[in-house]
Amino acid sequence: MPEAPKTTQKPTDYNLELKNKKILQFIEDLTSNADEVQNNVLEEILSSNAHVEYLKKHGLDGRTDRESFKNTMPVITYEDIQPYVERIANGDTSAILCSKPISEFLTSSGTSGGERKLMPTIEEELGRRSLLYSLLMPVMSQFVPGLDKGKGMYFLFIKSEAKTPGGLVARPVLTSYYKSNHFKDRPYDPYTNYTSPNETILCPDSYQSMYSQMLCGLCQHKEVLRVGAVFASGFIRAIKFLEKHWRLLCNDIRTGTIDSKITDPSVREAVMNILKADPKLADFVEAECSKDSWQGIITRLWPNTKYVDVIVTGTMSQYIPTLDYYSNGLPLVCTMYASSECYFGVNLNPLCKPSEVSYTLVPTMAYFEFLPIQRNNGVSNSISVPKTLNEKEQQELVDLVDVKLGQEYELVVTTYSGLFRYRVGDVLRVAGFKNKAPQFNFICRKNVVLSIDSDKTDEVELQHAVKNAVNHLLPFDATLAEYTSFADTTTIPGHYVLYWELSLNGNTPIHPSVFEDCCLTIEESLNSVYRQGRVCDKSIGPLEIKIVEPGTFDKLMDYAISLGASINQYKTPRCVKFAPIVELLNSRVISCYFSPKCPKWFPGHKQWSNTN
Ligand code: AMP
Repeated sequence: MPEAPKTTQKPTDYNLELKNKKILQFIEDLTSNADEVQNNVLEEILSSNAHVEYLKKHGLDGRTDRESFKNTMPVITYEDIQPYVERIANGDTSAILCSKPISEFLTSSGTSGGERKLMPTIEEELGRRSLLYSLLMPVMSQFVPGLDKGKGMYFLFIKSEAKTPGGLVARPVLTSYYKSNHFKDRPYDPYTNYTSPNETILCPDSYQSMYSQMLCGLCQHKEVLRVGAVFASGFIRAIKFLEKHWRLLCNDIRTGTIDSKITDPSVREAVMNILKADPKLADFVEAECSKDSWQGIITRLWPNTKYVDVIVTGTMSQYIPTLDYYSNGLPLVCTMYASSECYFGVNLNPLCKPSEVSYTLVPTMAYFEFLPIQRNNGVSNSISVPKTLNEKEQQELVDLVDVKLGQEYELVVTTYSGLFRYRVGDVLRVAGFKNKAPQFNFICRKNVVLSIDSDKTDEVELQHAVKNAVNHLLPFDATLAEYTSFADTTTIPGHYVLYWELSLNGNTPIHPSVFEDCCLTIEESLNSVYRQGRVCDKSIGPLEIKIVEPGTFDKLMDYAISLGASINQYKTPRCVKFAPIVELLNSRVISCYFSPKCPKWFPGHKQWSNTN
C-alpha cells in the first residue's frame, strides 16, 4: 500500500535526505522506547475516554494504569460491542465507546452475521494512518536509491459507501483515506509522484477508474520506477484488464483521444493532461501485448521498474507465482500491515523474500496486547483459540515488548477510537526484534478457509451455504456424501471451487441447471464481502461445483493417513490447499458446473436498505 501521494508544487526548501533521516531516527526512537511509548498510549487513550459509557460500565473508574486496565477490562470480539455499534449507527451521539465524535464507520472485510463489521472511527485517526504511510518510503530508500527520480504506478480504487440509519457514512478504510484531504491535498513529496491522477482513483466506476489509471500508466511508462496495488489480487486484476483492453488503450495513445466509454468528465480532463498522441508508443505497446507470451510483461512495458509493491503475505501468497511470471521475478515488496480497526506496522526490510516478511508494529498506533496461541499438532495443524476467554486466559495476554521469539499470538488492540482489548482475529509469529519492538510474520486470519481477494469465508459460513444448496437435490433423492473446497487462483479472477461427492438413490437424472442453481444458492448464502467481490469489483469469478466419482473422499482419507494423519481423528478437511490433494480430487472429477449469474448485493447492511 503506498503512502499518500503529494502535490506537484516543489517547495524550494525541500530536503529529502534530511526528511528521510528524521523519519528513520523517529523509527529508532519509537522502537527503542517501545514500552514507554505503549504506556503513554494507553494512558492517553484511557484518560481521554475516562467518562465513556463502555469504560464506566466495566468499572474502570478513570484509572489509566496498565494493571487496573488488564484486571478490569474484558478481552472482547466484535459481537461483544455490536449492540454499542448499532446504537451509534442508529444515531446515538453520546460518548458510548469514545469521547470524541465518531466521524464515520469503516467497513471491515471481516464479517459478522454475513455483513461487514462496522468500526467506528474518529477524525484524528486519519493523521495516524498518514503517519504510518510516511514511514514507508524513507525505509525503502535505504534499499533502493533514486526512487524520487521517477513515478509509482499504483492501481488504487474506491469502493461504494452507504449511510447508516443515523446518517453516518460507512465505507472501507482506504475509500475513506483516498477521499480525505490527507490524500487529496497532500503536500509535496518526490516519493509520491504517481502516474494516476486523483480523479482516476476517486472515480466510483471501477471500469473507468481502471481504464484511466492504466492509460496514464502506459503514457508515462518510462518514468515508472515501481508498480503496485494494495493486494496482489488487485495488481493481477490490472494485468488481466490490460490483456483484455490493450487494443482500445493503444488506440487512445495513437490518436491522443480517450475512448467514449470513459464518460466521467473529471476523469477525461485529468487524463487529457497526460495523454498526447504518440503513435510510436502505441506501436510499442501493441507489439508487446500481441506477443504470445505475457511472461515479464511488467518489465517489458515498464522497463525501469525496480519492484512490485503489493501485499503477498497471508492468503495473498497464493499469487506469488503469477506475479513472478508477469514481472520476471522482480522483488515483491510488502510494505505494511493494517486494518480498519487500526494501522499496525511496517516492514523494515522490504526487499526480503515474501516468506520472510515481518512487520514491526509501530507503538504509537494503538496499545497492543498478545494472546498466546497453542497449535493443535497433527495433520490438521489447526490453531486453537477459544472464542471467549476465561479469567485465567485473560491474564495470559502479554505486552508488546514481552512477546517471545518464535511464539504465535493473536493480536489484541486498544485504539484511540473506542476499541478496548479487541481481538483483531489475526495470528502473528514473532520473527525478531527491532530494538525493543517485536517484528511479526503474518501467519493467518483465524478460521478463514477460503479467500480470493479481500473476502474471508469461514468454515461455518461455507457449511451453511452448502446446506442451503443441497436442498435443490432433494427432489432427485440425492444427498451430499462429502464435500471440500479450494480457492482456485489459476483463473483470473480466482474463484471458489467445491468438490462434491454425491450419494444417488433415485433414478431421475439431475439436469445441469440444478447444479447451477446449487452454485448460485451457495453464492447467495455467502457473506456480503464475497458477494460484493462478485458483483461490484468483479474480483471473484463464478463459483464452481465439481462432482467427483463415488469413493473419492475415501481416497482422500487414505492419502492423508499415508501422510501421517490418525485414522481415529481424521476429519474431511473443508478446504484443501496442498497441491497433491487438489490433483487427486481433480483426477476424479465427473462434471463441472458454474454459477450462471452474480448473486445479489447491495451497499450497506441489509437492515439499512430502506434508509439508503
Ligand atoms: P480490513 O479490516 O478489511 O481492512 O482487513 C484487515 C485485515 O487484512 C487484517 O486484519 C489482516 O487479516 C489482513 N491484512 C492486512 N494487511 C496485511 C498484510 N500485510 N499481510 C497479510 N494480511 C494483511
